[in-house]
Amino acid sequence: MVAKFVLIIWAILGVALSQFPDVPDSDIRKISPINDGTYRLPGDTVPNHYDITLEPNFQEFTFDVRMLGASALLPVGSTSEEPDLHFFRIHLESTVQSGDILEVTLFYTGNLNTENRGFYRASYFEDGNIKWFGTTHFAATEARRAFPCYDEPALKAIFTIHIIRPATYNSVSNTDPAGAPVPVDGKFRDDFQDTVLMSTYLVAFVVSEMTSTGRLNNQAVIAAPALIIDGRGDYGRQTGIDSLQAMADFTGIPYSLSKLDQVGLPDPWFTSGAMENWGLVIYRERYILWKSGISTSSDRQNVASIIAHELSHQWFGNLVSPLWWTYLWLSEGFATYFEHYATNIVEPGMRMMDQYVTAVNQRAMDNDATTITRPMSYYAETPTAIRALFDRIAYQKSGAVIRMMEHFLTPG
Ligand SMILES: [Zn+2]
Repeated sequence: MVAKFVLIIWAILGVALSQFPDVPDSDIRKISPINDGTYRLPGDTVPNHYDITLEPNFQEFTFDVRMLGASALLPVGSTSEEPDLHFFRIHLESTVQSGDILEVTLFYTGNLNTENRGFYRASYFEDGNIKWFGTTHFAATEARRAFPCYDEPALKAIFTIHIIRPATYNSVSNTDPAGAPVPVDGKFRDDFQDTVLMSTYLVAFVVSEMTSTGRLNNQAVIAAPALIIDGRGDYGRQTGIDSLQAMADFTGIPYSLSKLDQVGLPDPWFTSGAMENWGLVIYRERYILWKSGISTSSDRQNVASIIAHELSHQWFGNLVSPLWWTYLWLSEGFATYFEHYATNIVEPGMRMMDQYVTAVNQRAMDNDATTITRPMSYYAETPTAIRALFDRIAYQKSGAVIRMMEHFLTPG
């Protein structure tokens, strides 16, 4: 937890466990001798539900967080911090039993940073005026920058998000609002529906004055108003509709949520190309906005294939998630495969499967021929080491292996 504790932390509802569920990573750790296990959570409690209210301040560039429990029966003896390991420990005065449900209330003020990580601030210009907004990027280990949490992919929970925002702003999150905005001291509070059970790194929210294409088939593209008015979100919205349908058809499993928003952020405010937050996918503008006569055909292929990549994650990675980052290839390898498969259905003229060998297999071999390559399943533990796993082994080599699997297993 890197931000300063001013006030709070609210409600993490957790269950005390006598032992962590069967996570067989004691063996996995032997793969990499550089990790000593100190970043991993102790596993004596697991999360059930987070109820989080965030109030960004676009003058001071901070945000207040309230995580609320419904009751406070156990007095806290003391707390301690281990900033290097991102731990905040709550020491109770009394012991708890295995199976006890604990509620934690926390108040907290964070910095709306400019590092493109956690809950951060970003901007665009409109009529010569700078427009600040707040957005998130939590993968892989950055959710803890926004609110205290059990920030490991296997520790899934339900999230109830509330955003308090200025009257001229709007907010979006993983789910639809639960009702109309609630007036609060000259601002509005947006209460979002409970999420499905999900990993922390997929939580997202954007608080901005950006605008939406409007919903079609429960999908919308959101970006700076001038770009949406110019019609640059329409292609991404339709391609999103078609790609999501292609993935639902392939898997035989309907999309899990009631809506999907795709947000385009201006450079330099998004470090990755795109991020598959469940129900709220965030892209660099160039990878979601496209308009005939302005954008190129190469841009169109990038937009179509990156949308297919991110929307395939709604199943591969979001619905079914790796137990730990060791198995990142199960997310990124399948997304690499399906960015070709689904685009081939949505935009057959792009002949994406014909490009597979040169775009994926050969790039994989280029990397895999070096002496510093690694196994597809590879344990990493520190945030820096986990970030380094997002490489050509996780994407291209794993995608190449999955395409081989298609050939010996047959598709579908
Ligand atoms: Zn991906």
